[in-house]
Amino acid sequence: MKPPRFRYFAPTSVDEAVELLSTHADAAKVLAGGQSLVPMLNLRLARPEVLVDINRIESLSYLRVEDGHLAVGALARHRMVEKAPEVAARVPVLQEAVRHVGHVQIRNRGTVTGSIVHADPSAEMPAVLALLDGSVRVVGPSGTRDIPWQELFLTYFTTTLGPDELAVETRFPLPPAGAGWSFMEVARRHGDFALVAVAALVTADETGRVKEARLSLAGVGGTPVRPERAEALLAGQALEDDVLAAVADAVREAIEPESDIHASAEYRRHVAGVLAGRALRAAMERARRGGEG
Ligand SMILES: Cc1cc2nc3c(=O)[nH]c(=O)nc-3n(C[C@H](O)[C@H](O)[C@H](O)COP(=O)(O)OP(=O)(O)OC[C@H]3O[C@@H](n4cnc5c(N)ncnc54)[C@H](O)[C@@H]3O)c2cc1C
Repeated sequence: MKPPRFRYFAPTSVDEAVELLSTHADAAKVLAGGQSLVPMLNLRLARPEVLVDINRIESLSYLRVEDGHLAVGALARHRMVEKAPEVAARVPVLQEAVRHVGHVQIRNRGTVTGSIVHADPSAEMPAVLALLDGSVRVVGPSGTRDIPWQELFLTYFTTTLGPDELAVETRFPLPPAGAGWSFMEVARRHGDFALVAVAALVTADETGRVKEARLSLAGVGGTPVRPERAEALLAGQALEDDVLAAVADAVREAIEPESDIHASAEYRRHVAGVLAGRALRAAMERARRGGEG
């Protein structure tokens, strides 16, 4: 199918893009990598009157480690993040997660920031943003603001980004030194969206017990989920079977998965608990080795 008619603009600066968005607001959509938007246009699930293509704003194509963050410009493709040595060295959980996004052709065009603001609840990047307590920097007619992940995701494919705002950067705080990490997902085939994905981050004390543990899940409701009670249960614990069983129960309580053509809610709930335990054990292994890959 062909998309409905639209007017096309290709600004070369953030200011120009924001001006276009504020002029056309609800009638406009930003086009980044097009890996979600173009299929939606072709299927006529989206019918914007105006497309604001940001691919010529070269200043948005960057990755930087600064002020304890990895700053990912809005035109940084998934593949750029996957290949960057600074991501491998400083935020390896992000590198592992991005490898699960579609296939290499999709990662060559799709952007990390586009994936986050698209807010597909099965997508990997929003779950990593939540794991690391990250935020998205946006520019609109009234200036620049940072939206923490907790205030960004509302529900399925819905965020608090205004129609006249452009996301310019995703900011991932660097994990603590020595933290172990893991990213695991269950999908029908490699490259498919996750049925359930779990990211874990663990720091350990000298006796091998958990100092701090974080979990983040995708595919288990309308937004990424951090199961706070499960995280709290882990503090000061060794990852024995009984602890992990209690954590799995707490994870299952924290989520509200839905049934769809891919999997039942019951299956997703079960898998979430199992994957949380596996991801925690793998993260603890890495923490014991001082956070090495
Ligand atoms: C076959 C296939 C398989 C895929 N598999 C996966 C997968 O396993 N996991 C996964 O996470 N994704 C998957 N994707 C989607 C892919 O990751 C997309 O790249 C991503 O979801 C959107 O990024 P994009 O840059 O392509 O955004 P676009 O498609 O250009 O835009 C998506 C939405 O975000 C908005 N948007 C984009 N950038 C901005 C911005 N800077 N400011 C404001 N709004 C913006 C657009 O207006 C649009 O509404 C798959 C896609 C395909 C085609």
